[in-house]
Amino acid sequence: MRLMREHDIGLFGIGVMGQNLARNFQRNGYSVIVYNRTKEKTRNFISKHPEIAGSYSFQEFVDSLRSPKRILLMVTAGVAVDAALKDLDKYLVKGDIAIDGGNSFFQDTERRCKALSDRGIHYIGLGVSGGEEGALKGPCLMAGGSREGYDQISGMLKDVAAKAEGSCCQLLGPRGAGHYVKMVHNGIEYAVIQIIAEAYDLLLRVAGLEVNQIRDVFEGWNGAELNSFLMEIATKVLGRADSEKKLPLVSLILDSAKQKGTGKWTSQNSMDLGIPTPTIDAAVAARNMSALKSERVIAAKSLHSPNIKPRLNRGPGFVQELHDAVQASILVSYAQGFHLMRAASREYDYKLPFAEIARIWKGGCIIRAKLLDSIKQAFMKDADLQNLILDPEVANCLSKVEGNWRNVAKTARESSVPFPAISASLDYFESYRSERLPANLVQALRDYFGAHGYERVDMPGQFHTDWTAA
Ligand code: NAP
Repeated sequence: MRLMREHDIGLFGIGVMGQNLARNFQRNGYSVIVYNRTKEKTRNFISKHPEIAGSYSFQEFVDSLRSPKRILLMVTAGVAVDAALKDLDKYLVKGDIAIDGGNSFFQDTERRCKALSDRGIHYIGLGVSGGEEGALKGPCLMAGGSREGYDQISGMLKDVAAKAEGSCCQLLGPRGAGHYVKMVHNGIEYAVIQIIAEAYDLLLRVAGLEVNQIRDVFEGWNGAELNSFLMEIATKVLGRADSEKKLPLVSLILDSAKQKGTGKWTSQNSMDLGIPTPTIDAAVAARNMSALKSERVIAAKSLHSPNIKPRLNRGPGFVQELHDAVQASILVSYAQGFHLMRAASREYDYKLPFAEIARIWKGGCIIRAKLLDSIKQAFMKDADLQNLILDPEVANCLSKVEGNWRNVAKTARESSVPFPAISASLDYFESYRSERLPANLVQALRDYFGAHGYERVDMPGQFHTDWTAA
């Protein structure tokens, strides 16, 4: 064991993320010690990385940190965080800093933050995005907590974070603000992944392209406005062949996707706050639908879809239309996420800095994309922009492509190929810009069966009609 009280930071939990973050801190000149519930993992890790210290005793781990102690938890979200905090409880003193870098639910972070700040301990909820590679080479770090606590660790966090016009680490607000923004980030991630998957399916089943041709289309898209990390990795995935079967690996992967809950939390919270996020909702539902594989296999045998052959001659016209539909749908997904964060910022008193969120999302994170430049600009022009699609530049982009967006929807419907996220995005756009929606009839029906009352367009007040009276 090295000298006591020498380490700059302690990493509690060394799954893939904890290991890579520990290496990242060490590479940036910080002295790191790790602790893990299963000792074998610590043993293996420090044998491969002897420059990093490890401890098998909790007391020793905590004692080895210089004051104020900085402990970064990288454990599974949920009960594991509470268990880890319980273990830490008796060792932490006023002024120490506990950081939760997992994908914790923001309300859990609110609760933990309150409990620890009552004892004078700084608690930082840190959303980390970028996956394994980001953790090692530079993640996007979305922090929430007290300014005083954050200031004690911001130098270290900024050093290990990705860089895009500065460090991609920022304090976004108090308490659960960082985990809230990470949750919405993941909701947008669900939406964009689903949109890309639908584009792949439409190119495969409507345009009749081969997987390698779709790869080329995506590569072209990634070279221009649709440049993003997710488009880039989609290109790589579609280019990978199974070495034995000599087929595109993607065509051998089961069409049943899993999820860990952050997309669902975003949808649930959007319902709580009354802000529509239909593209994110559709993406969550699409994963749920995909997981019903055995039911779908049975249904496919009895509910025959029309046998529509792909039209190979759709050619570049359809590809351009689809490009525009994907671009618009992705823009609208970010718009829904920012609209939700705007409402949350008021509801939870987070005072979120939207331009800064767009900036830090440009580096390290899974939803980094060229379009974040326009999003950042939009919020720099108007920090309180109601909805991103009202920004003149974004609105202009959507109006240019909306014809093609509708054409794709028409073609996909005629072809009987589902496209829930692209479709939900178009409906969101059409609904948001509709001065009049059929909610007048909704009001009337509610009043008919439940006497819920209604408002009128021609006079103020609340009305009720006895609809069954002659
Ligand atoms: P993980 O599988 O989510 O977590 C593994 C770590 O949690 C291990 O160190 C494990 O210890 C520890 N752990 C689990 N239950 C525990 C308990 N009851 N008490 C103490 N320790 C416990 O691994 P991960 O993928 O590295 O993720 C860590 C966190 O980062 C998660 O919250 C995850 O959602 C988040 N995250 C992950 C990614 C990603 O791409 N993987 C990206 C961003 C954020 P043992 O070794 O003893 O089991």
